[in-house]
Amino acid sequence: MAINAKDVKWVEQPKLTLMEKLYVPAIISGMGTTVKHMFKTMGGGGVTVQFPEERPVMPPHFKGLHRLNRDEQGRVKCVACYLCSTACPAHCIDIVAAPSPWPDREKYPETFVIDELRCIYCGMCEEACPVDAIELTTLFDLTGNSRSEMMFDKEKLLSVYDHTTNQGSDPVRTQRGKLGPCSELNEGIKYSNPNRANAQ
Ligand code: SF4
Ligand code: SF4
Repeated sequence: MAINAKDVKWVEQPKLTLMEKLYVPAIISGMGTTVKHMFKTMGGGGVTVQFPEERPVMPPHFKGLHRLNRDEQGRVKCVACYLCSTACPAHCIDIVAAPSPWPDREKYPETFVIDELRCIYCGMCEEACPVDAIELTTLFDLTGNSRSEMMFDKEKLLSVYDHTTNQGSDPVRTQRGKLGPCSELNEGIKYSNPNRANAQ
């Protein structure tokens, strides 16, 4: 269907003043930022962190190395639903599901591997997980001597959980209860995160 001429909005090209054409306001603004940082540094407010002697404190929403969370009995929380690997744009999560040895769930991940070199740390896996089994932590200084070292299997991902929770650096951001909202429908959904509860 042809576009009606009266529905077309023509936008005039902005007219620049001579100063704007010479980039004068942009240069002044850029110099202002430089001078602001210069005084901040001279006043003792350092902008460079002496890593690794000094470790920066990352904001809680920083997306770093993954971990697989444990439930209250210390078992892997994952129910092998494949939602994270389906959502992953980098296709770097490989899961092999098996019948669960526990009566409270159907499946569990027999193997669960994330290729940390392929990951783009977008957090889509965390968003997709219905039981908060996978989370991205604030650990960022990830190194390895070989490609295989960067393939994080279930044990390694669970050890990241143990490390971060023992250290207290990454509290579990559980929002979906023990086995997700569907398991709690009869009791009404309870959220430990008040922001999420308000969002319903
Ligand atoms: S953070 Fe993104 S790229 Fe990395 S495993 Fe999760 S979904 Fe995939
Ligand atoms: S989305 Fe969560 S429960 Fe499902 S396979 Fe991934 S980590 Fe496991």
